[in-house]
Amino acid sequence: MEHEARDFAGTLVEIAHDCIPENLSGELEQPLRFRRGRGKRTYHCLDDGEHRITIGPEMVRQHLVGDVHGWLNYRERNRLGWPVPCSIPTLLTHVVLHEAAHAVQIEQGGRRYGSVHNATFYRILASLPGHGWASELEAAIRTAYPDEAIQETPDKPERPQPPKIELPPLPLGRQLAIDYQGVRFNGIIERRNPKTVTILGAWESGRRARIRVPYPLLPSILVE
Ligand SMILES: [Zn+2]
Repeated sequence: MEHEARDFAGTLVEIAHDCIPENLSGELEQPLRFRRGRGKRTYHCLDDGEHRITIGPEMVRQHLVGDVHGWLNYRERNRLGWPVPCSIPTLLTHVVLHEAAHAVQIEQGGRRYGSVHNATFYRILASLPGHGWASELEAAIRTAYPDEAIQETPDKPERPQPPKIELPPLPLGRQLAIDYQGVRFNGIIERRNPKTVTILGAWESGRRARIRVPYPLLPSILVE
């Protein structure tokens, strides 16, 4: 997974360069560049006359395994009135937009010590999805998203709690079928971790795949 996350962080950097104009459609004087970093930190800085957004592979890994509750993007969607829950590619797009908003904020002088995520910042961030490149970015991230992960996040852990649904026992090697958006997937449980179960099997078409399903999503798609 670490490898996969590192690769996908690199892919995100390429996608961002392909989709996002370096002047952010006229919002920026200084050019915007992306690079892959190390660890979790994902941030913007203005250096040598260019905006640099660093994408942390560990941030990407936590998104790929559905461990998103601790991230600001997940919480700030509420504040922005953007839909939650949503898909992981949408959340990763949000991370890129969040950092791009910091670039605009700095040029507009809207960043003050001790007040980074302020009203100016959220006004800028709220305006970014209106650009054509933002939807291209999200579509490209969705297309490049690793095939094996189902693209939904679990429900938010805080209120309102859905009624507790009893999951069947899920020992390794158990056979099961799920129905994902009308397509049947048959497989066996290959791996479990605290948040997801990994199923190795095949789609109706015969295409073999390994998919990772967050537990909260399982009851609604489990067929047998
Ligand atoms: Zn920020």
